Amino acid sequence: MTRPSPITATIDFEKDGVQHGHLRLPYSRDDSAWGAIPIPIAVLKNSSGPTALITGGNHGDEYEGPVGLLKAAGSLDPDKIAGRIIILPCLNFPAVQAGTRTSPIDKGNMNRVFPGRPDGSVTEKIADYVQRHLLPLADYVLDIHSGGKTLEFVPFAACHRLADKGLEARCVAAMKAFGAPYGMLMIELDSVGMLDTSAEEMGKVFISTELGGGGTLTARTLAIAERGLRNFLVHAGILQGRVASAETLMLDMEDGDCFVIGDDRGLIEPCVDLGAKVEAGQVVVRIHDFEHTGRPAAEYRAKRAGLLAGRHFPGRVQPGDCLAVVASPA
Ligand code: ZN
Repeated sequence: MTRPSPITATIDFEKDGVQHGHLRLPYSRDDSAWGAIPIPIAVLKNSSGPTALITGGNHGDEYEGPVGLLKAAGSLDPDKIAGRIIILPCLNFPAVQAGTRTSPIDKGNMNRVFPGRPDGSVTEKIADYVQRHLLPLADYVLDIHSGGKTLEFVPFAACHRLADKGLEARCVAAMKAFGAPYGMLMIELDSVGMLDTSAEEMGKVFISTELGGGGTLTARTLAIAERGLRNFLVHAGILQGRVASAETLMLDMEDGDCFVIGDDRGLIEPCVDLGAKVEAGQVVVRIHDFEHTGRPAAEYRAKRAGLLAGRHFPGRVQPGDCLAVVASPA
């Protein structure tokens, strides 16, 4: 028999109206023997209709999700809702508190530990609660990411190629409704343990985003998140109103050739900026050895033509870093 989750919710998922509360995860530690981690949650419910689960702060150094969702939780009008919206602005709460991608408690990367464990680490316990208690409630799932401290992207909403083509079409429709400047058919370097994979395997209409990065946010990327959330909820039939139309350029990562991975340590020289067109074989990044003068820089080329959709953000790089992502206009 599977162990019950140690997490308790201070809100009632079945109650109409707006509730602001917490998921309480017991965490005994030096500064609080019988303490808990209070993960903020809002539930907005009215009459009957589908349920949307909306998450931000899956990684703790990405900010369009947490800020956009804190604003939405405090401002969405329940009278305009038919169904239920479950909002978790800071899914990996300890990571958001620390401003780091992974949790400072167990180094858990929330998007690599699904389906989680009820008797696992703090991060695994949160994932397990989402897996067994929240995803089953949802029809639509939106997980808002951006690049964090080490990556930056052109702002896109994304979904995956799925074996179930009917579900894939519904995910693509939701991604288009979100209305980010770009829409990406995404492939993953490592899809095991992702919230995405769990939601898709349960047959939920799932989309995610990469809205910017560098460990901060801008007025523009926040506005994309807020408009996208609204559009997503209207598209799902939960929120009254009209999908605000926006021009979306569809991109496709196609296969692993979209990634430019480095094999050098040094300082990065970007040769093209985000959103620029690149030709197959074009140098997109050089890496300079900063410990010597007179040495040639290592050159990294795009394996295919397309558009620079993602880039390494910090100036220093190490072997194995993802330097660039080149996506093809679909
Ligand atoms: Zn992320």
